[in-house]
Amino acid sequence: MAQQEDMFKKLISHSKEYGFVFPSSELYDGLGAVYDYGQNGVELKNNIKKYWWDSMTLLHENVTGIDSAIFMHPTIWKASGHVDAFNDPLIDNKDSKKRYRADVLIEDLIAKYEDKINKEVEKAAKRFGDAFDTQKFLETNPRVLENEAKKKELHERFAKAMNENNLEELRQIIVDYEIVCPVSGSRNWTEVRQFNLMFSTEMGSVADGATRIYLRPETAQGIFVNFLNVQKSGRMKIPFGIAQIGKAFRNEIVARQFVFRMREFEQMEMQFFVRPGEELKWFEQWKQTRMKWHQALGLGEKKYRFHDHDKLAHYANAATDIEFEMPFGFKEIEGIHSRTDFDLSSHEKYSGKKIQYFDPELNKSYVPYVVETSIGVDRMFLSVLAGSYGEEELEGGDTRVVLRLPPALAPVKLAVLPLVKKDGLPEKAREIIDRLKFDFRCQYDEKDSIGKRYRRQDAIGTPYCITIDHDTMTDNCVTIRYRDTMEQERVPVAGLERIVPEKVSMKQLLKQIAKS
Ligand code: ATP
Repeated sequence: MAQQEDMFKKLISHSKEYGFVFPSSELYDGLGAVYDYGQNGVELKNNIKKYWWDSMTLLHENVTGIDSAIFMHPTIWKASGHVDAFNDPLIDNKDSKKRYRADVLIEDLIAKYEDKINKEVEKAAKRFGDAFDTQKFLETNPRVLENEAKKKELHERFAKAMNENNLEELRQIIVDYEIVCPVSGSRNWTEVRQFNLMFSTEMGSVADGATRIYLRPETAQGIFVNFLNVQKSGRMKIPFGIAQIGKAFRNEIVARQFVFRMREFEQMEMQFFVRPGEELKWFEQWKQTRMKWHQALGLGEKKYRFHDHDKLAHYANAATDIEFEMPFGFKEIEGIHSRTDFDLSSHEKYSGKKIQYFDPELNKSYVPYVVETSIGVDRMFLSVLAGSYGEEELEGGDTRVVLRLPPALAPVKLAVLPLVKKDGLPEKAREIIDRLKFDFRCQYDEKDSIGKRYRRQDAIGTPYCITIDHDTMTDNCVTIRYRDTMEQERVPVAGLERIVPEKVSMKQLLKQIAKS
C-alpha cells in the first residue's frame, strides 16, 4: 500500500515536471480540486478524446455528435432530478474538522476486507506453488471465509441504507464498525447530512430579476433536450446514439486523488435511444463494446473489471461501472447505465411538449428508452498515465522513467535528434520533420547528449526517436530507437513514412477494436 502511495506521489510530480498537469492557480497557492493541463497533457487529453469520438462516430453509423451549451434552462435540472436528489451524504470528524463522504468511508472498509482476502491468497499461492488451487482455497480457508462473511454482512447493510437513503443508519454503520478519521484517528463524528453537488450562478446583468442557473453537473441532459432536434434534422431511426464531449462541474466534498475527483472536469457521454423492452440487450452490447475500447489500448487486461451497482439510481434498471486499477485501488472510470425512459418522459412532463418517436416498423409512437455510456476524460487520462508509468534499471546502473503510453495517444510521436549541431545534420533533421509533420506531432531536440535526449523523450512517452548522424548525409539512413525495447535499427529515411504510422496512427487503434 505504502509502495502504491509512493508511486502515486511520483506520478503527480512527474506530471508536473513534464508538463502534463499543473495545479490550477498555482501562483496563488492553488484552487481545490481544479487542475490545468500543460503542453503534453493537452495533447494526451486531446488524443483520448479523439479516440473516443472517432470510435463512436466513425465505427457506428448510427451514432452522431453534438456540442450543447454548459448553461441550460434551470427547469432542466428539476426535471432530471438533480435539484432534489444530486446529493452526497457527508459526515464531519469533530476533532480534525475534516469532511468525508459517509458512503466512501464505508466502501473503503469493504475494500479492506477484500484486501485481506487477496493477501491470504497471495501468501498461500507462494507457499503452495504450482499445486495451489485458488478456487478451493477461497471456498475452504477459515480466514478467507471469516473475512468474506464480514464483508457480505457490511455490504448488505450498507446497500440497504443507501437504497433507503437512511442517513442515520449510515452513521450507525460508521459507529458500529468503529471507523476512525484517517487524520485525527478519532471516532468523534457529526450526524450525516445531504449536500447538493451543483454549482449555481446568476444569469442577467443585475441581481434583481436575475435567474439562478446551474453549471451542468453532467453533459447528458444537453443530449436529452436535443433528442428531437437531432432525430428530426438528421432523420435518425431508432436505435441511434448521440455523443457529446464537454465540461461538467460538481462541488465535490472530498476532493483528493488528483484528477480523479475534480470540481471542474470533462465527460464523454453517449446516449443510445432504443425501443422499450430492448434496453437490456443494448446495455449488454454497449458493456462489451466499451470494454473492448479500453482493452485495445494494451495497458493490460487485468487492469479493468466490471462492477455492477448495488444501489440503482431511481431512473435506472441496470448499471455497471468499468473500473481501472489505479495506484489507490480499483476505481470507476466509466459508467454504463440503462436509464429507461426516465429522462425523456420527465422532460415531456416539465416542458409540456411531446418527446416521442414514431416507429415506422411498429407503426406506433413511443418515448424511447436510453442506454448511456459515460466516461470522464480526466479519469481516463489518469488511468492511461498510471498504467504507462514505469521506472527501470538499465545496464550500467543507470535508471530511466518511461511512459509506455499507447502510441496513438502519445503527445509526441517522433523525436528527431541530430547527433551534432553542425555539418548539415540539423538541416537534415528539419527536412525529415517537414515530411512527417502533417500527420504526426514531431519534436526537434539538439540539446545535451543523445542519452539525455532519449531520457527526456522516454519521460513523455514518445514512441520513436530518430537520430541523424554523419552517415545519414551519405547513405540517407537514420537510426530509429524504440521506446519500449530501446532497440535501435538503421532504416532508410524514405521508410519512415511507412514505419511510423504502423504503430502510432489512430487508425490502427480503431481497426483493432473494429476487428476484436
Ligand atoms: P463517483 O461515484 O466516483 O463520484 P459518479 O458515479 O458520480 O462517480 P457519474 O455520475 O456516473 O460518476 O459520471 C460518469 C463519469 O464521469 C465517471 O465514471 C467519471 O469518470 C466521471 N466523473 C464523475 N465525477 C467526476 C469528478 N468529480 N472528477 C472527474 N471525473 C468525474
